Amino acid sequence: MVEQPFLNPLGVHALVWVGDTSPTSVNYAVTKTKETGYDLLELSLHDMTNLDVAAARRRLADAGLRVVCSRGLSFDADISSEDLAIVARGEQMLHDSLQVTAELGGDHLTGALYSALGKYPYALNDAGRRNVVTVLGSLARQAKNHGITLGLEVCNRYETNVVNTAQQALALADDIGEDNVFLHLDTYHMNIEEDDLVRPVREVGERLGYVHIGENHRGYLGSGHLDFTAFFHALVDINYTGPVTFESFSSAVIAAELSNNLAIWRNLWNDGEDLARHARSFIANHLTAANTS
Ligand code: MN
Repeated sequence: MVEQPFLNPLGVHALVWVGDTSPTSVNYAVTKTKETGYDLLELSLHDMTNLDVAAARRRLADAGLRVVCSRGLSFDADISSEDLAIVARGEQMLHDSLQVTAELGGDHLTGALYSALGKYPYALNDAGRRNVVTVLGSLARQAKNHGITLGLEVCNRYETNVVNTAQQALALADDIGEDNVFLHLDTYHMNIEEDDLVRPVREVGERLGYVHIGENHRGYLGSGHLDFTAFFHALVDINYTGPVTFESFSSAVIAAELSNNLAIWRNLWNDGEDLARHARSFIANHLTAANTS
């Protein structure tokens, strides 16, 4: 194989393969991620009670795959709430997730760590935002002991009311004030909230820690209208060498709760393997072109 002209590890979200994290499902996801040429598997922790952490760690290590963990919170365990009992449950969920990330051998925990994943019926208020800053500051300091960085994924307005733009997430990271908190940009969300796919990348610059590549409808890359050429050029322009992970959802693979929170109602594909192979080529080709132009 010809050497790639880029350093970014390429990842795939486990929901391309499976909707849960039972041992059988994790084995399948690890095998398929490796077979389709990816370097990294992103495991959502929405189903972590079913996860056999030690077995998953062994499978990942045997396959030579990196793992990144992601999650959102829920409305009854939400650190952006004003209700301290709800905040405490959210904080516990984050600490448990950090522990699982460490035990899996992961070095990055990302997602909507700051709120539930869903449509809020009101805007975030100051008390809720202060709770986010306090809890994520404490989580970040604990994460440092494990050599783990945290990501703030910038999500659209229908999935959170805490950070919808890169500017808002930079301000939140500033207020948290810990050097192991990075931003996570996702082209699907950027398409809804940002001016374009370039400005936010430039604004975030060296504070970019993780990237999700998703089409505007979250299906096959290149079948929608997103300007991936501009986005990948921007990544190269800021010298981003971190992970680039493909994220896609279809009603063909359903995760209890998560699929409903993300409004995955439509069948955008049936064959996860074909989708994943196509996405890996698409991303690698764009990164190659952007690095050599
Ligand atoms: Mn995402």
